[in-house]
Amino acid sequence: MSIAAFKERAVILDRSDPLRSFRERFHIPVLDDGSEVIYLAGNSLGLQPKSVPEFVVRELDKWKTLGVSGHFEGDDPWMPYHELVRAPMAELVGGLPHEVVVMNSLTVNLHLMMATFFEPRGRRRKIVIESDSFPSDRYAIQSQLRHHGLAPAECMLELSPHSGSDRLETEEILETIERHADELALVLLGGVNYYSGQVLDMKAIAAAARRAQVPIGFDLAHAVGNVPLSLHDWGVDFAAWCSYKYLNAGPGGIAGCFIHERHARDRSLPRLAGWWGHDPSSRFEMPHEFDPTNSADGWQLSNPPILLVAALRASLDIFKKAGMDRLREKSLHLTGFLREMLSSIEGPFRIITPSEPEASGSQLSLLFQRDARSTFEALERRAVRCDYREPDVVRVAPVPLYNTFSDAAAFTGVLNTLFQ
Ligand SMILES: *Cc1c(COP(=O)(O)O)cnc(C)c1O
Repeated sequence: MSIAAFKERAVILDRSDPLRSFRERFHIPVLDDGSEVIYLAGNSLGLQPKSVPEFVVRELDKWKTLGVSGHFEGDDPWMPYHELVRAPMAELVGGLPHEVVVMNSLTVNLHLMMATFFEPRGRRRKIVIESDSFPSDRYAIQSQLRHHGLAPAECMLELSPHSGSDRLETEEILETIERHADELALVLLGGVNYYSGQVLDMKAIAAAARRAQVPIGFDLAHAVGNVPLSLHDWGVDFAAWCSYKYLNAGPGGIAGCFIHERHARDRSLPRLAGWWGHDPSSRFEMPHEFDPTNSADGWQLSNPPILLVAALRASLDIFKKAGMDRLREKSLHLTGFLREMLSSIEGPFRIITPSEPEASGSQLSLLFQRDARSTFEALERRAVRCDYREPDVVRVAPVPLYNTFSDAAAFTGVLNTLFQ
């Protein structure tokens, strides 16, 4: 099919898209001349919901008119403010409300979770990660190992695709966990790999880790708001995620954390503590002994950044209206359409993201044989916003909340002209 034919088909698909009106709830970035960019970078920074200022200004006004009383007075007092996002967040990750808390940023939460769940003992001291894990996760793991007096080179068990393959095979991940069970102290993997876009079989991996009696945690930075998650049912020990990618909560937005209820209610678990994790019924008596809240809230350190939680509320409201099931349905359709179009053009790239629906989300990673960076720069000059990862990958993410089939077709058209 020609690019022109794809564009025609895109118009028809957009017209029958039941979620098409959601785009109007977001600010689409524009060029100097006022024209909209082709925004396919929602996996890096989700767009701003138009309702964000309303939510944030409400809190600024409370601060203006109530001052310190805002903690306990007015609508939505700040003291329990983070409770407002608990249920919608829990729903997105498939957790029970008391298993989920928003706090800190993602890397901080990974450290907090490792402070609890990484307990090297005797031979059991290795951590399983992906060889192409996100640098921050790797640094966090390396520094945790050093903190325990362990050598990262010896204690990181890295999973990598076979030579010639772009993906991790579930069977091999399970087999690695089984084979090394008596050496492992933790499995910590990206639920969706940031580089390849591969969605791991989190359910099977969690089951294998539990059989091996190794704590299992997932980094869900690229998974939350993108693919369906059932953390509670899968028996995952913990998970952490940021909210500024698919969740559109703004740069540096407040992150989320899941702690399975079999741990969330175990107040004897070791942890790094702060006053906000203390049981709220006695927190303000300023006791000397830390008494953790009987839920995921017991891992909080500080009182939450209300303005960031306010921005997140705006976004979660939209998710609730759209519904994760419908978003996933559109995502599969939209990303499948983009894949079909990209496969029809001639260019020095191939898609390394798996094509099976259960192993992919909204992102497609294009691996270039040559000229990855210059292609990315040429796309930028032609009003495309996507992202480039050293050394040779361009990632594009048509996001079902605000991207259209026409965006996907326009992107394909621009890319195609670069190879003419
Ligand atoms: C985006 C991302 C991060 C970013 O960490 P912050 O602490 O939010 O800066 C970390 N890990 C992964 C896998 C990511 O995709």
